[in-house]
Amino acid sequence: MIKKTAAELGTLIANREVSAVEVAREHLDRIAAVDDRVHAFLHVDTEGALAAAEAVDAKIAAGEKLGPLAGVPIAVKDVLATRGVPTTAGSKILEGWRPPYDATLVERLRAAGTVMLGKTNMDEFAMGSSTEYSAYGPTFNPWDLARIPGGSGGGSAAALAAYEAPLSIGTDTGGSIRQPGAVTGTVGAKPTYGGTSRYGLLAFSSSLDTPGPCARTVEDTALLHAVIAGHDQRDSTSIDAPVPDVVGAARLGATGDLTGVKVGLVREFSGEGAEPGVMSAFRETVEALTKLGAEVVEVSCPHFLYALPAYYLIAPSECSSNLARYDGVRFGLRVGDDGNRSLEEVMSATREAGFGPEVKRRIIIGTYALSSGYYDAYYGQAQKVRTLITRDFTAAFEQVDVLVSPTTPFVAFELGSRTSDPYQMYLADLFTIPTNLYGGPAISVPCGLSEGLPVGFQVMAPILGDDRMYRVAAAVESAVGTFAPPAL
Ligand code: GLN
Repeated sequence: MIKKTAAELGTLIANREVSAVEVAREHLDRIAAVDDRVHAFLHVDTEGALAAAEAVDAKIAAGEKLGPLAGVPIAVKDVLATRGVPTTAGSKILEGWRPPYDATLVERLRAAGTVMLGKTNMDEFAMGSSTEYSAYGPTFNPWDLARIPGGSGGGSAAALAAYEAPLSIGTDTGGSIRQPGAVTGTVGAKPTYGGTSRYGLLAFSSSLDTPGPCARTVEDTALLHAVIAGHDQRDSTSIDAPVPDVVGAARLGATGDLTGVKVGLVREFSGEGAEPGVMSAFRETVEALTKLGAEVVEVSCPHFLYALPAYYLIAPSECSSNLARYDGVRFGLRVGDDGNRSLEEVMSATREAGFGPEVKRRIIIGTYALSSGYYDAYYGQAQKVRTLITRDFTAAFEQVDVLVSPTTPFVAFELGSRTSDPYQMYLADLFTIPTNLYGGPAISVPCGLSEGLPVGFQVMAPILGDDRMYRVAAAVESAVGTFAPPAL
């Protein structure tokens, strides 16, 4: 049962061929069997999962008509607030915190009858590309346990690849849904910014943070997208517009017909800095798209190569402000409060002990970039680059329906191989970050293997054009198939 898709499980449960409790138990057993090796989870909520599954079974027995994902297990990135269930964002500073409320996204998951198995591991406060910056130890890639599962949402991706859950939730600020998807051979979508609610998402970079769906197939990803997306008045940047028909688009794409679809290759992403094996899997997939009827043209986006440096000023700037709230007064950890120390001393000791080195680095960079005298030269300049990148996208989407690229320049790398040089870690985001700065949707879908490890294909679409990216991603999947890791 653990290898079934979410769509299949939902149907079996709705038809009472299997109970939601049985499905939940099988996945909990799988977690018990493999998670000591994978470490996808920071917290497994056995009781909560079984109670949720029982509730679904009771409703079905009573003849209630539920949605397509009712009873289907899901894993949630530990950066979303879950009422009464520990939420750490991968940081020591929040160790032991049990939020008094659910994120909007989590509320919607519960309302749809999905069964939350637990919370997944991540780089601290979603800063990283390998999950090695989790304060609770790394997650291991099910394809090769000596390699990283991507980040920051490595736990959410590894849980899928290890068959611990058929669905998971990630968040994407610079690529944290798509890059883990790529290196674990799973699917991950970053919706249009504002298309999914940030209420209850522990903020990293508020103008970029976007929660989104992850699964092993494009259709499952779209089904989950449909459950979590849509306007939320508790998030001031939430878009008040109908959610595009992502499920319909995924099913259309699965027919393998792309006649009339115009696909753009980004000229500036010629492959420099990317592994040859990644580029060849990417090019073969582009070839496959032309066979499905797509018209492929080259498009120039001259500012895309400046996206990485602009992001690494904007995201730290916003994080330096957002993370100021962890002061030892209201949340989680408090250090050195012996009654003799000043408030400032306690705050300083708490932040020194509670944050890891990468988070501190970002707070320092961001504080510097925002400081008077340097604001215009760094933060202000980066914002101008962001505008130019948005213009590149706008101009590109006047010529093509979607843009495509590899998701990340390299396949899963070995644990420890990039931690000594932050810049090497940041390079994982080369192809994913432009979309975040623009705000449009993008998806990663597996497109092949390079030296036995999965390669991701990225489809980027215009703002609120989420349906288009699902159509093309499903066509890719129909052409190249899905990829399973060696048995664990
Ligand atoms: N790797 C990027 C970073 O470290 C992406 C993070 C994200 O999308 N949350 O900032």
